[in-house]
Amino acid sequence: PLVLGIETSCDETGVGIVRGTHMLANTVSSSMEEHVRFGGVIPEIAARAHLEAFVPTLRQALDTAGIELRDVDAIAVTAGPGLAGALMVGLSAAKGLALAADKPLYGVNHLVAHVGVGLLDPAGESVAGPAGLRTLPENTGALLVSGGHTEILRIGSLTSDVQLLGSTIDDAAGEAFDKTARLLGLGYPGGPAIDAAAATGDPRAFRFPRGLTMPKFEGSVEAPGKHRHNWSFSGLKTAVARAVEQFEVAGRPVPVADIAASFQEAVVDVITAKAVRAAGEHGITTLMLGGGVAANKRLRELLAERCAAAGIELRIPPVSLCTDNGAMVAALGAQLVAAGVAPSSLQIPADSSQPVERISV
Ligand code: ATP
Ligand code: MG
Ligand code: FE
Repeated sequence: PLVLGIETSCDETGVGIVRGTHMLANTVSSSMEEHVRFGGVIPEIAARAHLEAFVPTLRQALDTAGIELRDVDAIAVTAGPGLAGALMVGLSAAKGLALAADKPLYGVNHLVAHVGVGLLDPAGESVAGPAGLRTLPENTGALLVSGGHTEILRIGSLTSDVQLLGSTIDDAAGEAFDKTARLLGLGYPGGPAIDAAAATGDPRAFRFPRGLTMPKFEGSVEAPGKHRHNWSFSGLKTAVARAVEQFEVAGRPVPVADIAASFQEAVVDVITAKAVRAAGEHGITTLMLGGGVAANKRLRELLAERCAAAGIELRIPPVSLCTDNGAMVAALGAQLVAAGVAPSSLQIPADSSQPVERISV
């Protein structure tokens, strides 16, 4: 199926177009610059920016794909989770287009779309099967690491069966990167800034905590503890703040690169260790990585190492498809159309806290 995907859950206005698992266009316009001076996304500014960027972004995506709206088989749009006002702009636009062009509408889950993007053909290659679509192998899992979420999932079917195995109990991985970068004066967004600063630092300079790894939280395979597959990053943030403070109090220069590298190592170590163990204990043999933090170089490297050691096949999308975009929404939409899932009503609301199990609405 030829599907148009619309994404406006945070600060990226994305319109993507796919045919099955083949990506034809992926246009993204970001209001990131407008949020920099506030050190975080301001919902009202993001919503207004989506309103201004939507039509030009749509036009460019259609031109890139060389199609018109009447050619598409369906329109997919992020219904949640995300910022309510921002989601509403994309949803309203999608409903308007679906009504005007008489196309079925699919309201989809942003988090599942972060995973679904991994089904798109590698650049330039077309590996779509007879149905024009690749699907997931059996026993697939997903590690979702983004600005607002950190989750390990079991995926029976991307269109009907997503199960949460574990998640963060406080900050998300991306949030930890953003907050730590602010502490270190590295600016916003923090993920790419820490990734870059860490490149020249020593990851062993500081030993920062790995949250929820004590036996009382993890238990054993036979008697798993409540937090065996969960993460916590708030203690790590406090430890970094204390380290920075010690240098400041002593009047010594803060070793930013060493702290960034040590922080990154702590996050990546605990994310990959727990994800690979959860995958193994749930019989997962293929792991898909998704979400903005999946752009992190050290995460990609250590996860690949640990998956290889555990005999798990790892699939990592290209960096450009890890952060928010419209192609991921279109990719999930195409899977829903192909699976014969019923389209959404034109009345669907934005759901800012949509759980990951609710794949489409
Ligand atoms: P969610 O998907 O949970 O709703 P979001 O859409 O805001 O949240 P994404 O766009 O998926 O999040 O990812 C943005 C996050 O990814 C930010 O927190 C950013 O700091 C982080 N990030 C981006 N690049 C990197 C990197 N190279 N290393 C670490 N983190 C990164
Ligand atoms: Mg963003
Ligand atoms: Fe996202």
